[in-house]
Amino acid sequence: MNKFKSIAIDGPAGAGKSDVSDILAEKLGFVHVDTGALYRAVALYFLENNLDYISKETVCENLNKIKVDINFKNNLQIVNLNGNDITGKIRLKEVANIASLISAFSCVRDFLLEIQRNTVEFYSVIMDGRDIATVVLPNADVKIFLTASVEERAKRRFKQLKEKNIKCNYNEVLNLIKKRDNNDFHRKIAPLKPSQDSLIYDTTNKTIDEVVNFLFSYIKGKMNC
Ligand code: C5P
Repeated sequence: MNKFKSIAIDGPAGAGKSDVSDILAEKLGFVHVDTGALYRAVALYFLENNLDYISKETVCENLNKIKVDINFKNNLQIVNLNGNDITGKIRLKEVANIASLISAFSCVRDFLLEIQRNTVEFYSVIMDGRDIATVVLPNADVKIFLTASVEERAKRRFKQLKEKNIKCNYNEVLNLIKKRDNNDFHRKIAPLKPSQDSLIYDTTNKTIDEVVNFLFSYIKGKMNC
């Protein structure tokens, strides 16, 4: 039996997975594994190498040129692409759009599976993504599916982008989220869906404190600690 604990948090873009996972990880003394960052790292490779027509064949054939790994410094996730720390470079919307596209390819999902699973050999983790409870960690101790209305998620994302001085307008953000939802929910491989034993929690109109407090009690109850 693994001595480390694992919590799976899945949900669509903008549901609050990342912020909530960060806070919960700190409260529990776990590390937060942000699996979206791994898909973004692969996407960045294709963006930086000007492979602008991103067909499945191009992506699968070039994966052997890519090495992605993660480590944790002061419990913060660092993502390396071919030996370079690219943690600060993967938040651009161009990267997110390519990540959403390539994440539908089974070669990419297989390529990233071991990296995700390996983390639970060394750490107690809160892992967030789209298929954590269903594919990556089907034996996780706690499984949560966070959701919120598409308008609320777009509002939150718009606010985050404005705070980072990134130029955008609300309708553009809303349309991008709808597009990413469509890709994530409807792809053939590992589509976004709650596992049968996930708690489904709607965060629409809830503050981050409300969400964190509720989930912290839920997790404690589930893990008997
Ligand atoms: O969560 P984030 O927005 O960083 O994820 C970027 C993209 O990577 C998502 O749009 C999704 O398509 C993909 N992804 C995935 N499976 C995961 C994590 C992310 O397909 N476990």
